[in-house]
Amino acid sequence: MKRLASILAAALLILISHIALGQKPNVYILATGGTIAGTGASSTGTAYSAGQVAIQTLIDAVPQIQDIVQVRGEQVVNIGSQDMSDEVWLRLVERINELVQDPDIDGIVVTHGTDTMEETALFLDLTVQTSKPVVLTGAMRPSTALSADGPLNLFNAVVVAASQDSRDRGVMVAMNGQVHAAAQVIKMHTTSVESFASPNAGPLGTVLNGKVNYQTAPGHAPLHFDVSGLRTLPKVGIIYSHSGINADMANAMLGAGYQGIVHAGVGNGNIHKAIFHVLDKARANGIIVVRSSRVPTGPTTLENEVDDEAHQFVASQWLNPQKARVLLILSLTCTHDWQQIQEYFNTISTIHI
Ligand code: ASP
Repeated sequence: MKRLASILAAALLILISHIALGQKPNVYILATGGTIAGTGASSTGTAYSAGQVAIQTLIDAVPQIQDIVQVRGEQVVNIGSQDMSDEVWLRLVERINELVQDPDIDGIVVTHGTDTMEETALFLDLTVQTSKPVVLTGAMRPSTALSADGPLNLFNAVVVAASQDSRDRGVMVAMNGQVHAAAQVIKMHTTSVESFASPNAGPLGTVLNGKVNYQTAPGHAPLHFDVSGLRTLPKVGIIYSHSGINADMANAMLGAGYQGIVHAGVGNGNIHKAIFHVLDKARANGIIVVRSSRVPTGPTTLENEVDDEAHQFVASQWLNPQKARVLLILSLTCTHDWQQIQEYFNTISTIHI
């Protein structure tokens, strides 16, 4: 309580001194690559390479940012986010947790490829500890494209990160004029600039004319996992179900060191009879099995067509398979108790729905 009061007092002091000195907020950008930093030979085609342009070039391409904030940045990696790894996640969270301690930094922007942005956003949401805004952004079109979306997305992400209204909202994604919660946002389209949406809950807000407007109250899942000191993360994989599936892939996972398996089932997380026994065997071997669904919207609910209690399966609730994998990885850093892990999935699913 005392600690909370002193943090609030410090935040208030910084705010007052900024206003008194007419200072602009300080936003720190961490760049990881992606299409926002991509270049292509043609300005009209879809062929390009992600992760080519360095952070300073990205910042210099949007001079309007300097009108509203003081900005600094650093390059963490420069990769396509299809190559995102546990190692980069752990580096990112460590660096962000360090930066947010700096009283001179008001908000953080992470530039990131769009392919796995929703996974990194959720990972950071559950591991970064701060009330300061942390905002991911990227682009669907490379920097060399006609009508590239990266510059405005970066500007908008900085607007969101610099706003006092963005505090206490957890990690967010700012894309195409909308702001989304990490647990909700999904990449919905392979090529359109209108790709990111929160189909189950709707966006948190919008960014327009250099201002963010929230349609929702602040809020954040009361879940936090401390990954400081970890150099690796538990191995968790996803099995994607389909009609006519056989047990080959599921069987291969049993002897491969997986601590968790997410089953991207059909419908409400249903499991083909050809692999049901393999998932039971996984449980008998101590592997946690989470039932999720390949259907893009709606929850995977407990005890629907599957007797979860009897099989000791966890239902992913509102998390899709790739997000369920993130929460399962983090859960396994502190417990192997399937009922406790079910509680984590229930808890995260109560937010913003
Ligand atoms: N493959 C790219 C990436 O995720 C796509 C993008 O950024 O839009 O890095």
